[in-house]
Order: sequence, then C-alpha cells, then structure tokens
Amino acid sequence: MILEISDLSVGFHTYRGAVNAVRGVSLSVDAGEIVGIVGESGCGKSVTAHAVMGLLPKDNSFIKDGSIRFMGQDITHLSDEERRQYRGSDMSMIFQDPMTSLNPVLTIGQQMTEGIIHIKGLSQQEAYEEAVTLLKRVGITKAEERMKAYPHEFSGGMRQRVMIAMALICKPKLLFADEPTTALDVTIQAQILELLDELRREMKMSIVLVSHDLGVIARICDRVNVMYAGRIVESGPVDEIFHNPQHPYTRGLLNSLPRVDKVDDTELPVIEGHPPDLLYDIKGCSFAPRCGDAMKVCAACRPNNENMGKEHCVECWLPARDREEGHHE
Ligand code: SF4
Repeated sequence: MILEISDLSVGFHTYRGAVNAVRGVSLSVDAGEIVGIVGESGCGKSVTAHAVMGLLPKDNSFIKDGSIRFMGQDITHLSDEERRQYRGSDMSMIFQDPMTSLNPVLTIGQQMTEGIIHIKGLSQQEAYEEAVTLLKRVGITKAEERMKAYPHEFSGGMRQRVMIAMALICKPKLLFADEPTTALDVTIQAQILELLDELRREMKMSIVLVSHDLGVIARICDRVNVMYAGRIVESGPVDEIFHNPQHPYTRGLLNSLPRVDKVDDTELPVIEGHPPDLLYDIKGCSFAPRCGDAMKVCAACRPNNENMGKEHCVECWLPARDREEGHHE
C-alpha cells in the first residue's frame, strides 16, 4: 500500500467560522494504481490531495482528525521541513494551470535544470542532459531548442507536458494530478491522460487523479472515489461504478455525461440545487436536499457505509431500504 488515508477531517478558519471541508475521508492507493477522486468544485477533493502533499495554507487550515500514511509511515503531522523531504523525492503534484507553477521570466531549460540540481545535486551539464531526456520522454519534440523557450511560448498542452516532466524529476512513487486536463481541449486532454497512463506503467508509479469529470476518470483510473460535501459517498472499481452506480449523486453525475450513443438533441440532465454550506454540521445525508430518492431517515441520520461486494461501497440508505423491502415480501 502506497497511501492510506483514514478518517481524515480538514477544516479552515474563516471570518464566518470554521468550515469543515473534508469530513472523515478514508481511501487507499496501491502501488502502480491510478485512483480517481471525483466531485463538484468545493467537495473537498483538492483539499484531500493538498493535505497529503502538505500544501494546505499554513495560516488558516487545520487537520482536525484522522491520519495519512505514506509508504507505511504516518505523515499526518510532519513539520514543513520533514514534508519537503517527501515532496519532490517520493511525491509530486501537477495542477490545472501550469502557468501558476512555472516562472514566466525563466526559460523552461533554466527551470528544469535548477530543479534537477536542487533535487539530485547533479552538475549543470548532467542536469541539462537529464532535462532534455525528460522533455523528450513527455513528448516534447526538438527538446534542445525548446529548453531555450519561455513558458508563454508553449501551448497549454505542451506546458502541461513540461509540468509532468518536472514532476518526474524525482521519480515519484506517488503523483497527484489535480484537474490536469481541465483547461485543455478534448484531443489534447486525451493525449495527456494517455501519457500519464504510460508513465505509471513505465515508472511503476501510483497516481491520484482529481477531477470534476467522470469521463476523465473513466479513461485511465482503476478505482474511483466519488466525493460530495467533504465525504466519499461511493467508491469502487471504475467499471463497477459506471455500470452499477448505487448513490443517487453518482447516478446524477453519470446522467449528466454526454454520450456518443445518444443521437437525440435533448438537453443533458443536471443535478438541481447546491451542495450544503460546510460551515454548519450536517446531521443526516448531505445530499438529501437534492436527492429525488430521499426518505425521512435521510435527513435525520447519516447513512452507513454499505459494502456492495466487488470492493464497491456506498454511503446511502437505499441498500438498507431495499433489503428491508425484500425482507417483507
Ligand atoms: Fe438520497 Fe437518502 Fe441515499 Fe442520501 S441517503 S443519497 S438522501 S437516498
């Protein structure tokens, strides 16, 4: 097991009070696996990733409860210095907008070689050669020439390839990809996902792919965790979740995906309503105000996490209701 998150809760102090952004998340990532975290913006998926990377804002965030184990070691409360040893050596992260991570006034070559010298302590020449090799590996043609270019001279897709090359400097065991293709058009998106999939096989790396788009998750993930209002409401192997979704929220997400086998031009259904304000405690199921299947029990008590078999779990009262109804028949 590379990563094991148990019952993690993360909050933020705001002027309105403490916001409970992540409320008891548990998930695991095995070696060489790609695990997806999917949900609407504000559901806590990026906060979970940032908590593992030690990238939560220092001034107002806090880990309230739970633990994060990385390669068997508890890293939940490591100091900044200790975190830095993991970041850039065993863990890396790529983000939605590479421009925010790249320095606009330095060439790609300067940024890559600097990073390599810093992480690996190589000479300038060795670092240059390694940078060129990495750029070639991520599909950047004429890499020697492109080393002299500035970030704004690259297209969005090429910039994301540069970011992936930078993330690979340390040969990470675990790569977090936070909405890595959201700003890209569909064709480039597919190429970047394919590249990530190739790299995980080649480097035997694990990847956590964070996305709001189930279509992106379906392309390369082995397992998926569906997050809503700071909790994982459904999890399991991708095929199982796609073909046998149990949570009304997951079904809603799947129904809102465009499908190539549907030729009619009716509008895609949307999930009406908004996620709850995480400033306040949520007593029952957080999806209840938006759920077409809600029952009395839903608003009153948080549903149990039901094991549906085949590593498929769902946090919803429907399986219990179905059991009971079956029992009375
Ligand atoms: Fe809907 Fe109830 Fe299931 Fe929540 S627990 S998703 S409200 S049916």
